Amino acid sequence: MLTYADIEQAAQRILGAAHRTPVLTSRTADQRSGAQLFFKCENFQRIGAFKFRGAYNALARFTEDQRRAGVVTFSSGNHAQAIALSASLLGIRSAIIMPHDAPALKVAATKGYGGEVIIYDRYKEDREEIGRRLAQERGMTLIPPYDHPDVIAGQGTAAKELFDEVGPLDVLLVCLGGGGLLAGSALAARALSPGCKVIGVEPELGNDGQQSLRKGEVVHIGVPDTIADGAKVTHVGDHNFDVIKRDVDDIVTVSDAQLVDAMKFFAERMKMIVEPTGCLGAAAALNGIVPVEGKKVGILISGGNVDLAAFARFVGAA
Ligand SMILES: *Cc1c(COP(=O)(O)O)cnc(C)c1O
Repeated sequence: MLTYADIEQAAQRILGAAHRTPVLTSRTADQRSGAQLFFKCENFQRIGAFKFRGAYNALARFTEDQRRAGVVTFSSGNHAQAIALSASLLGIRSAIIMPHDAPALKVAATKGYGGEVIIYDRYKEDREEIGRRLAQERGMTLIPPYDHPDVIAGQGTAAKELFDEVGPLDVLLVCLGGGGLLAGSALAARALSPGCKVIGVEPELGNDGQQSLRKGEVVHIGVPDTIADGAKVTHVGDHNFDVIKRDVDDIVTVSDAQLVDAMKFFAERMKMIVEPTGCLGAAAALNGIVPVEGKKVGILISGGNVDLAAFARFVGAA
């Protein structure tokens, strides 16, 4: 079982490679929520999302043999870029399995970072199966986007930096897809701010994590229809759920309309481009979905990778 010591070690490993991202505040956001909000801005992380942390931490632990054979992974986007960039920084070959409907920006960026891209059909093929086959055929090591201890430990360094900077918090709101960021954040919170309520936030139409927490076991759903493409996963990971069920207080959901509203807020008031999935935590605070009034609240903004045309469509609609 992962502990906070794993996150401390990950923080050492990624030091100098990952950016220490800023923590921003907004009086307007505070007024609207009635709380004191601290936004940890991983949209300013390398590759534009927190995923660089987990990917780099995992690859930095490779043995000589693993480095020589290379890494393979599957991802709807940000983990792909994270693996491709981390691998080239460490001199490792990478093969990335991406869905046919991944945003063009993410596919292009992954190739640009030196990754070999392999496209699959999200609705007809099983990416985990394709990944395992490639791993076998080429001797590559599979590093999945969330269900891996080194990935979880790396993702936890973002919340660690947040607590190191602003001290203990009453509530921490974390975007939830497969649970890498949430599990890592919960481990950091338990060690650095034991009284802090850790809450995962999912899209309404993809509430498998919420169902899982209530049921006490991992629940699988169909591919959710949501604009939060980073949270289009059908189930949380096993390693992730072990931590989530022990250390996470609750999982709530927000609507796509609330995500769009938060995207507009970030663009207009904070001058930031945040991708839909990155808005999950903020949407929960700004719409009173989690009671935050009078509280000191940390919000992980997970990423900022969104096609400009899609961004314009989202924020342009009145
Ligand atoms: C991957 C991702 C998430 C979800 O993270 P998990 O670790 O899978 O829960 C949220 N936001 C962005 C921007 C992502 O890339």
